Amino acid sequence: MKSKNDILRELLSDYQRRQEADRQEDEIRLQNAIGKCPEIGILQERKRDIIMDNVRRATFGEKTDESITEKMAALIARVKELLKTNGFPEDYLQPVYECDKCRDTGYIGDGIQEMCQCLKKRLYEDYGREMGLCERQKQTFQTFSLSVFPQEVIPDAGVSQRALMQVIKKRCEKFADDFPETQTDNLLLYGASGLGKTFLMHAIAHRVIERGYSVLIISAYRMFELMRRAHRDGDDAGLQPLFDAELLLIDDLGTEPMMENITVIQLFNLLNERAVRRLHTAVCTNLTPKELQERYTERVTSRLLDRQSTMQLYFAGRDIRLSER
Ligand SMILES: [Zn+2]
Repeated sequence: MKSKNDILRELLSDYQRRQEADRQEDEIRLQNAIGKCPEIGILQERKRDIIMDNVRRATFGEKTDESITEKMAALIARVKELLKTNGFPEDYLQPVYECDKCRDTGYIGDGIQEMCQCLKKRLYEDYGREMGLCERQKQTFQTFSLSVFPQEVIPDAGVSQRALMQVIKKRCEKFADDFPETQTDNLLLYGASGLGKTFLMHAIAHRVIERGYSVLIISAYRMFELMRRAHRDGDDAGLQPLFDAELLLIDDLGTEPMMENITVIQLFNLLNERAVRRLHTAVCTNLTPKELQERYTERVTSRLLDRQSTMQLYFAGRDIRLSER
């Protein structure tokens, strides 16, 4: 698994290639324009000379040419005119950038440099993909729609499914927005399948990644598969991200095959070490607390169900995937 720094390094070399391509495109355009109208080449050179002359004067403390703005404006206007009469767009010789804000450097601001939005966006996309978010790119708080949840009151709960989801969504969003200063370190999302748990878990992941933290989202199935392999090979290196991510989201706990004691011990070690290091973990499961206890023993479950450290969100109601399709 690539680290965030690896991804940033790759992106920055991509930006460097892009700047190179921009300069080549500038040159090609200039040659095209000169090919059709040699005067444009002469005027462009004159512009460069005026600028260089002024730089020289400034360097040697000489008086700068006060008519420079005027001269430049006249040259620029003439070039535009010539471009137009030769069938080019007016701005054909403007430097080409994919992002005008950072001029394809990835950073903005003089002095203290800040990451440009375009780089940030790609960093989080690539990082999210690396962390397993690819198929669920669109599952965010913005795309989470309450209107798919029925409005009739759930008999046992005394509220409608929609009202319940509104509360749960709010809590999840607050958790993501407050991260890492969250009310509880951990989250447990439980209830039958098809009630929106996985969606909200991905929404949390997206938000926390956007806010610049390291997030790993993984299905319990895949996680235990990694653990089983590490156990077999006697090599734990591949498991490190599970222990290091600032937020670990485990989806569908309970669907993995049980491997005698190993599954339980490994889950306990993981949850325990993360708790000791005050790292945040969110778990999503179709099992009830009682079923969790039966499957993972009292010792593990007490970690998962401890109300001091874990906010429990119970999803109730009707499977919305069935009513949707
Ligand atoms: Zn940019």
